[in-house]
Amino acid sequence: MVQLSIIDEKIVPFLTTENLYKVFNQYVMPFLTKEEQAFVTDLEDFIINELEPKTDWGNDVYELFPILGKKGYIQRKNPDFREEFTPTGMKYEVLLAMVLSIADPELDLARLASGILCGNPMYEHPVSDRMVKAKEDIYTGRKVGCICITEPNRGSDAVNMTSTVRKTEGGIVFNGEKVYTTNGPRADYFMSYAVEDVENPRQSMYQALVEKTMDGLETNRLKITSVPRVHIGQTLWRDVFIPEENITGHAGKGYEILFEGLVPERISIFGSSLGIGWLALINAMIYTNKRKQFGKPVFRYQGVGFNLANLLVELEAVTQLSLKIADTYEQEVKQGHPAHLKKFNATLSSMAKYQAAKLSHEIAYECQNMMGGIALTDNTKVDMAVEISKVEEVIGGARNIQLLLVQRGIRNAVRALDE
Ligand SMILES: Cc1cc2nc3c(=O)[nH]c(=O)nc-3n(C[C@H](O)[C@H](O)[C@H](O)COP(=O)(O)OP(=O)(O)OC[C@H]3O[C@@H](n4cnc5c(N)ncnc54)[C@H](O)[C@@H]3O)c2cc1C
Repeated sequence: MVQLSIIDEKIVPFLTTENLYKVFNQYVMPFLTKEEQAFVTDLEDFIINELEPKTDWGNDVYELFPILGKKGYIQRKNPDFREEFTPTGMKYEVLLAMVLSIADPELDLARLASGILCGNPMYEHPVSDRMVKAKEDIYTGRKVGCICITEPNRGSDAVNMTSTVRKTEGGIVFNGEKVYTTNGPRADYFMSYAVEDVENPRQSMYQALVEKTMDGLETNRLKITSVPRVHIGQTLWRDVFIPEENITGHAGKGYEILFEGLVPERISIFGSSLGIGWLALINAMIYTNKRKQFGKPVFRYQGVGFNLANLLVELEAVTQLSLKIADTYEQEVKQGHPAHLKKFNATLSSMAKYQAAKLSHEIAYECQNMMGGIALTDNTKVDMAVEISKVEEVIGGARNIQLLLVQRGIRNAVRALDE
């Protein structure tokens, strides 16, 4: 909680999560259907009345997982095995990420890594009863999941991984090292990738679920100061035996799954970035309207008011673009549209990931500046927004990699003119 409060006590009651949502709703609700609006309202009520009272800001986020899970809020991309948790779909997942990030962006980061990065492949590839059970553990928030792609020397170049898999009787054996595994040190399930032949990763990549209890698995926490309540780690596999029932993708299929998963991952992640942007911006909008210097609210000075207005215009535009992309993903990809539309959707998700991550960082930085010293203290969540916006820039692929994918899209669009 707040260590020492120095903020004007008359301003404090205006900066509640309830008020942040009241402002957020004015800018986002008009573009949503009645069903989407009801989803947002229910989620906001849950966060204000059930989640926040149980949040201990001095503690890790993981104690909050079962509270989210009980209400079906660990993820909303896929149907839950408990039928009462509807509606679901990519747009609802983005709304969940956005609304939760406004209240607790660290919790949202950890939730997304568990529910989407680990949970989505479990949903898409229910290869065994074991996998179905693991997915239920994740969706209820009883257990924590993570994804292991990045290695010390293979970051953006994720395909050419060096972690290896060897076939053996009844399963496979993993060896290697993964880094930056979000939730790793607290995880029960590790959605993992390795290759049989490092010279031929595309044809030999496996995806499998490693479990905390398996011999040879070790996780160590990496110090990432931007997100103190989330555990990010190094994951080591030393001859970890994985039984057949935990293999979601055999040789080559692992590569396909990796790529099919990147688009929904990026879409979910841009929801979080947008929520972080709204968190910082609405705090600044309220605070600068209440804070007086030289006899009037600082918002009335053009250097502050125009800057916030400009950021609002940009954030509103990117939010609407992003929600539209989530809709497009749901409608076009899920309903089995042709391959070129899938590619188009991949480009769109990179565009929005790029823009949302960069913009939310700029907004958080600018809002901190517009609010003055108070935004550097723990008296508001703006500094938390600044810190976590840096993480969102890297997770799910760094900025240049999103541009690389957009650039490829441009090349294909122009190449199509020759056909
Ligand atoms: C807090 C945090 C959480 C994370 N969580 C996870 C997780 O849960 N699971 C997981 O597997 N990974 C995770 N990651 C890893 C993340 O996906 C990688 O950090 C990211 O893909 C970039 O890899 P890298 O850090 O090795 O940078 P590098 O790939 O070494 O890139 C360094 C720089 O070079 C640029 N660059 C690289 N290639 C190109 C190119 N072809 N063209 C132009 N520029 C290029 C990059 O954009 C970047 O600016 C996490 C990272 C962080 C920091």
